[in-house]
Amino acid sequence: GRGIYRYGTTSAQEPIKPPVTVEYDKLLINGQFVDAASGKTFPTLDPRSGEVIAHVAEGDTEDINRAVAAARKAFDEGPWPKMTAYERCRIMLRFADLVEKHNDEIAALETWDNGKVYEQSAHIEIPMLVRLFRYYAGWADKIHGLTIRADGPYNVQSLHEPIGVAGQIIPWNFPLVMFAWKVGPALACGNTIVLKTAEQTPLSALLVSKLFLEAGLPDGVLNVVSGFGPSAGAALCSHVDVDKLAFTGSTATGKIVLELAAKSNLKPVTLELGGKSPFIVCEDADVDKAVEVAHFALFFNQGQCCCAGSRTFVHEKVYDEFVAKAKERAMKRSVGDPFKTGMEQGPQIDAEQFNKILKYIKYGKECGATLETGGDRFGTKGYYIQPTVFSNVQDDMPIAKDEIFGPVQTVLKFKDNEEVIRRANNSPYGLAAGIFTQDLDTANTLTRALRVGTVWVNCFDTFDAAIPFGGYKMSGIGREKGEYSLKNYLQVKAVVTSLKNPAWL
Ligand code: NAD
Repeated sequence: GRGIYRYGTTSAQEPIKPPVTVEYDKLLINGQFVDAASGKTFPTLDPRSGEVIAHVAEGDTEDINRAVAAARKAFDEGPWPKMTAYERCRIMLRFADLVEKHNDEIAALETWDNGKVYEQSAHIEIPMLVRLFRYYAGWADKIHGLTIRADGPYNVQSLHEPIGVAGQIIPWNFPLVMFAWKVGPALACGNTIVLKTAEQTPLSALLVSKLFLEAGLPDGVLNVVSGFGPSAGAALCSHVDVDKLAFTGSTATGKIVLELAAKSNLKPVTLELGGKSPFIVCEDADVDKAVEVAHFALFFNQGQCCCAGSRTFVHEKVYDEFVAKAKERAMKRSVGDPFKTGMEQGPQIDAEQFNKILKYIKYGKECGATLETGGDRFGTKGYYIQPTVFSNVQDDMPIAKDEIFGPVQTVLKFKDNEEVIRRANNSPYGLAAGIFTQDLDTANTLTRALRVGTVWVNCFDTFDAAIPFGGYKMSGIGREKGEYSLKNYLQVKAVVTSLKNPAWL
């Protein structure tokens, strides 16, 4: 499944070739790239065509055991948690520099395996990973406990210590950004890691992990196991030597992860799960801007975002204008080979997601929503879907309730703030929301009334490294990014020392 490709001419007959080779297709355990214990491999596919890119080592329970043992040793015997924080900081900074140096090669591999637009990989996501590692490198030597004043003759301190071996499971929609959100804070705090990547996108994490070794990361600190959820993923969740789990993916799988963690050793779990985020366009909004941002909020990354603005609520006074303009914008969206310059949308990740999205489009038509544009696959090859807009959507339709995870915008009408607050909150999810208004009171009321982890006002999908991200309700437990994420990877130890001379409290 290996091949060396270069950009070719871009005639209609000749699709663009990813300018990259697959060099790392094995498991990373204890600083070595190794075959799976079973010798098994699985194919990872190019979403543009369904063709095999590479056969990747398929990790299972035995490989997870080996990886956890390596991470355990690297934690218990050092050197990682025993290094100075400054040394850890410098390795993370060197890693960020190396990723930056190899930006385009990594971006091409990411696009090849995932189908996302190359310009997005190269100019948004890899730079985001770099920024995140620099941000958390900066935290490494700024993690301190407290000196606490207690009743009685005691000197009391809290020590903030790494929690141990972190098990991390990531999805396929943002393979490298998810890598950064998980690995960055865990390493800054001095933990060691076993990372299970998504079976659809195993390649980019292996490549950047190689760069981490080059940057000086000691063996066993970061182990990467490719493989499937019910085998490798479940083994990681159940392992008694894993001290903490972090998971991003569907709410259904999140429940399984939590259950496996509870049944094994009660390891703490943070979860980033699904969403059905409202995007609220108020009567006073700048409609043109709201149309553009609502379009971005839903269609970005082929609609494969946990926080996608997938319920577009529009005030009745601007509804018709909004729908007409949203339709026009969707019709202009450029769909095609993600390696081609100027493309806004590539293929969906795989046949399963492709079919799921088409099924929801069918439900939308059957339920009586108005199909404004799109509604079918795009082209005849690969997993491309037409940018689709439904208007006259009602709250109880499946397209308004379930996470579609595709390029399908659903536009709903509302009359006043009270009504839209009630309807927006009427969801088991609570990940994010967008609000478009120029009225300060409306913005203040909505930001406080919405039961979600992020509210974007007159913007959407702003993902600075310092801003916490996570869900209310069934969208998750805990927060990632920013200072908040450090808590996920630290234990607090209270140290109480009796004072000999209480007069000197
Ligand atoms: P998933 O939740 O099943 O997969 C996410 C990760 O969990 C993958 O690494 C997978 O291998 C692993 N996993 C699966 N089953 C597991 C198990 N039993 N134990 C441990 N780990 C397990 O998601 P999916 O099947 O790839 O996609 C299904 C739906 O999930 C999508 O349609 C979408 O709605 C949603 N999704 C959400 C996100 C998000 O960022 N919140 C990301 C991907 C998918």
